[in-house]
Amino acid sequence: MKQYIVIGAGRFGKSLAMTLYESGQDVLVVDNNKEVVQNLSEVLDNVVVADASDEYTIKKIGLSNFDVAIIAIGTNLRASIMATLLAKESGIPMIISKATDNLQAEVLRKIGANRVVFPEHDMGVKVAKSLTINNLVDYMELDSKHSIFEMKVPHSWIGKSLIDLDVRGKYSLTVIGVKNKDIFDVPANPIQVFGEDDIVVVAGKKDVIEKLVIKE
Ligand code: ADP
Repeated sequence: MKQYIVIGAGRFGKSLAMTLYESGQDVLVVDNNKEVVQNLSEVLDNVVVADASDEYTIKKIGLSNFDVAIIAIGTNLRASIMATLLAKESGIPMIISKATDNLQAEVLRKIGANRVVFPEHDMGVKVAKSLTINNLVDYMELDSKHSIFEMKVPHSWIGKSLIDLDVRGKYSLTVIGVKNKDIFDVPANPIQVFGEDDIVVVAGKKDVIEKLVIKE
């Protein structure tokens, strides 16, 4: 089982740590605010008060034992940089850092974050997409141009298969899988005809997918 360390237990860090814990994962939470730690210790087993920007304190925690570090300090730039740097120096193979703006994201990537998340930005985009795109179930941005969409099958696909539609040739889209009730077909069967209750998971250029769905 993987060992997780979550540094910073604000709204993002706390919900992330709680979800990992509820899924049965080993998770240690570090925050420099005693009150935050005290509240969390009522629900989590491993919570410590420590200043993530203090090299000595953080080294004492034994960062090298962890497989994944989530640096969930957005507002304290110095602490988020120090914690990411210390996690990198300790050899943690997967470091996910939270950023509040692009500059912070760039710095965090340069000093070793494997992944940078912008929870407010990402959720804002998700909610907006769910409002503007009909039948969207879930959405994940891959980069500024590409995304994965989980959505109800486009109306024009019903009664046809991927081969009939030539989705890859015509739209340069990859249909990763097709869901129907509890059955999730991955990879999608190219000769299976789409039914009206199907949910499709599609990867490709955002604008192409959006056009396809908004056209409906
Ligand atoms: P959110 O927007 O998710 O609530 P914040 O960036 O506001 O995130 O919260 C960050 C959390 O990180 C707070 O609980 C704060 O006490 C903690 N924190 C801030 N600086 C440090 C630090 N130097 N060391 C450890 N934890 C810190």
